[in-house]
Amino acid sequence: MNLEFSPEERAFQAEVRAFLDEKLASDLRRANALTASVFSEPDIHRRWQRILNDRGWGAPSWPKEYGGTGWSLTQRYIFEIEAARAGSPPLQPMGLRMVGPVIMKFGTQAQKEFYLPRILSADDYWCQGYSEPGAGSDLASLKTRAARDGDHYVVNGSKIWTSHAHFANRMFALVRTSDEPRKQDGISFILIDMDTPGITVRPILTIGGDHETNQVFFDDVRVPVANRIGAEGQGWSYGKYLLEFERGGAMASGRLRAGLRHVERLARRYSGNGSSASLDHSIALRLSQIEIDIDALEMTELRLMSSLQTGQNPGSVSSSISKLRNSELKQAITSLAVDVLCEDALVWEPRRPLHELNQPAMLEEDALAALPEYLNGRAYTIFGGTSEVQRDIIAKVVIGL
Ligand SMILES: Cc1cc2nc3c(=O)[nH]c(=O)nc-3n(C[C@H](O)[C@H](O)[C@H](O)COP(=O)(O)OP(=O)(O)OC[C@H]3O[C@@H](n4cnc5c(N)ncnc54)[C@H](O)[C@@H]3O)c2cc1C
Repeated sequence: MNLEFSPEERAFQAEVRAFLDEKLASDLRRANALTASVFSEPDIHRRWQRILNDRGWGAPSWPKEYGGTGWSLTQRYIFEIEAARAGSPPLQPMGLRMVGPVIMKFGTQAQKEFYLPRILSADDYWCQGYSEPGAGSDLASLKTRAARDGDHYVVNGSKIWTSHAHFANRMFALVRTSDEPRKQDGISFILIDMDTPGITVRPILTIGGDHETNQVFFDDVRVPVANRIGAEGQGWSYGKYLLEFERGGAMASGRLRAGLRHVERLARRYSGNGSSASLDHSIALRLSQIEIDIDALEMTELRLMSSLQTGQNPGSVSSSISKLRNSELKQAITSLAVDVLCEDALVWEPRRPLHELNQPAMLEEDALAALPEYLNGRAYTIFGGTSEVQRDIIAKVVIGL
């Protein structure tokens, strides 16, 4: 595995840095630093997505024919690392990394032409309708039903934990179109316009104080059959294809390292009298341990990139390994931040978003998001498939259990 960048790649790195210096406004950086969730606020997302799209960089992982950059994996890696270091808002995953690749691979020409440009331009904001009460890890048990009525499906049922459904104008959803002996066989993948009559979105406030998730109810919601992706009853395989992008796909080590650098700065101020050398021993040890774990994850990411670039298929288990390690490291970082702040971590700012407070915060700004991030981060090892489920997949595929 060659870890050196070529001269062309170094030139690309310089181009990305110059772009970020020029275009990533300080209020966007600030909003990102004060966002506890893995998702940006939609207005922040829209602004940043449109700046990137104007430069032709709206979809780093998409091929050129669909308006993507056509970048090599190394270029994507460089972009990701530089964007994380600069503190840019993350790209919205539900459109770019989840439904986008599914539409590209399994959608009709008309679906590609309609939906893909609207993801790039941030005109559409997507949410993911997979989980239901009673169908999370055991997703194939889902019961939301789509009954055929002429050229429409009539959808009834409920989705739960739907992140940002209250902002989204579109949902991709797995629904039951028939009852088959094998539960997976009666599932279809459909695209739902959130303005359709019969949809009710009810907030679920999470422990971090954010309104991030929702329960969505469908009462006789009419969805055109033309909004189905691929064949009826084949939704399970499209849905699983999407999960590989949800769990893996992102090169996570850059953002983890940026998060750790932030905690290190807090630690120097709160427990080290401004210097690394005077850091509390246990804090210094945890910082080093996390740094080593991020190095290990980065090496795994580079190894996967290297095998992809040489035409090998690292297999779907790689996305489970990335998801597992990324979520555990995120929790380790946010947990350390709270320990570093000690009793200051108990100062609770209830208003959201934190970058739009209309009076001075009760804590220094760079410490303000620590507790909300810690609390919000309890869900990292749950959403996108729990850690237990990822370990199950790894055990089956790698160890053959
Ligand atoms: C903040 C947040 C945001 C979310 N956003 C979305 C979203 O946008 N869209 C969406 O569709 N869903 C979303 N989810 C739902 C998420 O994907 C599910 O919560 C997750 O898949 C777990 O399902 P469950 O909650 O039903 O728990 P369960 O499946 O009931 O699991 C309960 C416990 O049992 C364990 N368990 C279950 N099965 C096994 C097994 N086979 N082996 C070992 N242990 C097992 C689990 O690991 C867990 O500890 C979100 C969840 C959260 C918390």
